Formats: sequence, structure tokens, C-alpha cells
Amino acid sequence: MDRGGNFLERVYGIIEEESSGHTPLVNFKYPEELQEILRNDLDISEPVSNEELEKSVRKILQYSVKTNKHTFRNQLYGATDPYGLAGAWIAEAFNTSQYTFEVAPVFTLIELNVISRVLDMFGLSNGDGIFSPGGSISMMYALVAARYKAFPEIKSKGMKNLPEMTIYTSEDSHYSIMKAAHWLGFGTESVRTIRVNGSGQMITEELEVALKHDLSHQRYPVMVNVTAGTTVLGAIDDIEEISAICRKYKIWMHVDACWGGSLLLSPKFKIKLKGIENANSISWNPHKMAGAPLQCSLFLLSEKNLLHKANSAAAQYLFQQDKFYDVRYDTGDKSIQCGRKVDAFKLWMIWKARGIEGMAHMTEHTMELAEFCLQSVASKPGFRLVIAPMQCPNVCFWYIPSFMRHQVEDDSWWELMHKITPKIKELLTKSARLMVAYSPLRHHKNFFRIAFTFHPVLEDKHVLEMLQAIEECGEMITSDML
Ligand SMILES: *Cc1c(COP(=O)(O)O)cnc(C)c1O
Repeated sequence: MDRGGNFLERVYGIIEEESSGHTPLVNFKYPEELQEILRNDLDISEPVSNEELEKSVRKILQYSVKTNKHTFRNQLYGATDPYGLAGAWIAEAFNTSQYTFEVAPVFTLIELNVISRVLDMFGLSNGDGIFSPGGSISMMYALVAARYKAFPEIKSKGMKNLPEMTIYTSEDSHYSIMKAAHWLGFGTESVRTIRVNGSGQMITEELEVALKHDLSHQRYPVMVNVTAGTTVLGAIDDIEEISAICRKYKIWMHVDACWGGSLLLSPKFKIKLKGIENANSISWNPHKMAGAPLQCSLFLLSEKNLLHKANSAAAQYLFQQDKFYDVRYDTGDKSIQCGRKVDAFKLWMIWKARGIEGMAHMTEHTMELAEFCLQSVASKPGFRLVIAPMQCPNVCFWYIPSFMRHQVEDDSWWELMHKITPKIKELLTKSARLMVAYSPLRHHKNFFRIAFTFHPVLEDKHVLEMLQAIEECGEMITSDML
């Protein structure tokens, strides 16, 4: 009767065949076209045989983006680490919810163990932490913890009797802080966006000016968000300098190391995040640079027990206090979630298989490749860097087609460049040669960002192929296409 098991046995082969070397990165179709192509496959009004189901699944995968290819450079993640994927599959198959020791005995110990190792890595050895659904949710965890620490009565009484609270972040920081400010009732206007310098780092003096201004107006600065690896430029704020200011004014310092945190895996690059050990809280996404499958993200704090105090609701049907084992191993009440996946197992698998040396090696290789890309961009005609030197493995640049070169670079020239970058991206995507990010930033017009990740392990020649694809598509642009 149940044919599901038979189907499951075919899954590995299907995935292998539909994502192997010869499959294209992307087979781009516009939404209406795709709707038409997959009309019968998407329809769920009648049940189908396993053979029909397999055909539909294969078709769906054929039109899906192959994020495992080296030409997928569209975001800050890339191919998954095969060990991480194995961990994800095993965890999915065991379908465990990580709230109590009784349902997740070993997974609980694994999460505690991994968190403890990661805390050591960030220099918060006596701290605490939790796996979170992503960096955006970790930003909310940070604000909740900072606010609870300042005003524990928030939990029962809410915001109504509290002073106006303000939050500080750089103008290049991740947008999740705006969402968090809205969701948690601060309002987006309470976020002070501090200007950055030419390298994309928060200008520390301006942070202090903003703090003094708010303090003199009886506002309560509740948190400073320091970014270690901004999303576009990969800039790392001066954590040490900012931590001195936070200490001086007794303000919670959160370090958003979602992207740049992976650099701590290498003794060689640790220095770039100097001062992070002074953080009150940190977020890190192993699901970005380090190749853990989505989602795998940690929220860490320097203070023990605060996470539990700030978030617990003590549901009596789940977290009974009269259980037959030590209930401190029921870690789920530290979380905002109830049911929670065992994301720690993916990082544990990678770490267990590769060791810290293996991870350090991957970090260093990733940085070397990015450096090679940066040097290539700097020396190739038509390419122009947005910033150098690089801080994280992000390389940001424009490609200036031949017909645009040797001209006065006035506003109208830049307006044209602003349109050229997305047009090149379109040609790259439709020809399935490369999926790459582009963005404007402050006064900069649209430029490309290639970010490097641990997987797949690339060689210099892959970098040159990517740049060549950009150059060739760039040279196809004519002024009447814009
Ligand atoms: C990606 C990113 C985030 C958000 O993480 P998600 O896991 O995608 O929610 C936050 N901060 C920085 C700097 C990021 O790059």
C-alpha cells in the first residue's frame, strides 16, 4: 500500500543525475513560462504513480538552480560540504525536535558540545548559546537579550514604562536589524545608522557622537551592532575600538559575524576579528562561507543563563521540572522556537570529519582564491575594483565594456554603468555561465560582488573563467540594449 519507501530509495540517484557535472547551472525561464512548462507537474489535484512522480521531480530539478556549481556566486553561500549534507540527511531522517533531552538525548549533547567548541573559538569560553534559524533571527535574539539585561521587567510588563531605547549599527550593516527593531517594538526610527569610512567600516568617532547625543536626550542606548563582514563589501568594523566605547558607556555589544565569523576557523586570519572576545553576544552562520547546509546558524552570549531567563516560558507539559533526569539538559526553553531542527549535527559532522586543521585549510584556501580574484580584477583591462584591500573573501568591481572606456566619468556615464551591470548579469544568467550578485552601495552605482566559500573547492582557473564570462557578456552590450 505504502509506495513511499520505494520512492525514497531512488532519491539519491535522482539528485546525483540531475545535479551532476553536465547539468547547466540554471535554465532561466520567466515566471509565466515556467508556470506553463510545469503546469501538470505542479498540479496536485490527483495522486500519481511513482514513475510519474519521478518524472515531475526530475523536471523540477532541471529548472532549479544548481547551487552546488562553482559558477553559483549569487549569494554568500555556495555548494554544501558533503559531510554537512550527510548530517542534514541523517538528521532529517530521524526527524528529531531539539527541545528536550528525552526526545533528543544525543543530539542535545552534540549541540552543547558544538556550542562549547564554538564559544572557545570566539573567546567566550564561559558563555552560552543556541542554534538559531539564521542570522536575522539571531539579531532578534541579540536585541531581546540586551533589552532583557537592561530591563528584566520587559518580559511581563512590556515596553510601556521603559525609556526610549536606541540601537546603533553601521550604514552598511545587514538589514535584519531594521526588521528586528520593528518586530520587537523599538521601531525602525530608533536605529541609528552610523556612517562608514572608505573601507566600509563604521566610523567609531561618529558612533560616540551619536551615543552622547542620545544620552543627553535621556534616551537609553540598548545595543551597538558591530559587523564582522558586511554583506556586500565584506568590511570588518574595528571591534576593539568599538568595544572600548561600549565598555565606557556600558552598552551591550553584539557582533554580527554571520559572514566573517568563519575566518576564526583559521589561526592565520583570527587577528582580523580581534576584540570579538569582548562581545556580549555574537551571531555566526556556518551555512554561509563554511558550507554547512541551510540552515546552520549560531547565537552566542558571554553570560550564562541569561538566554534561558530572557526566553523561557516554562511550559508545564514539555519542560516538567519533576522529570526523572537532570532537567538542565532540556535546553529548548532557551529558544524562541518550540519544535527545532538539529542544525548542530551538520556542523558536528563537518568538524568531526575534517578536524579544525581541515577547516583552517579551507578558510585559507578560500581567502587565497579571493586574493587571486582581487589581483586579477586589478590587472585586467576593463575591470575596476570598488575597494581594496579585501577584508573578507568578497571581491567587488565594475566591468567597463570597451565602448565605455576612455571617457569623462561624469554623472551620466555612471548612470549608464548603473544599467550595464544588471544587463551583464542578465546575459550571464540566461547563458547559464555565472550567477553573480550585484548591488549599488551608498554613492557607488551598481557593481558586481563575487564572494568565495569553502565549497566547491576551486582553483585559479575557475576564477579566470568567471571573469572571462563577465568580460564576454560585457562586450555583447550595446547602447541600444540599455
Ligand atoms: C546573511 C547575513 C545575515 C542574515 O543571515 P540569515 O541567516 O540569512 O538570516 C545577517 N548579517 C550578515 C552580515 C549577513 O551577511
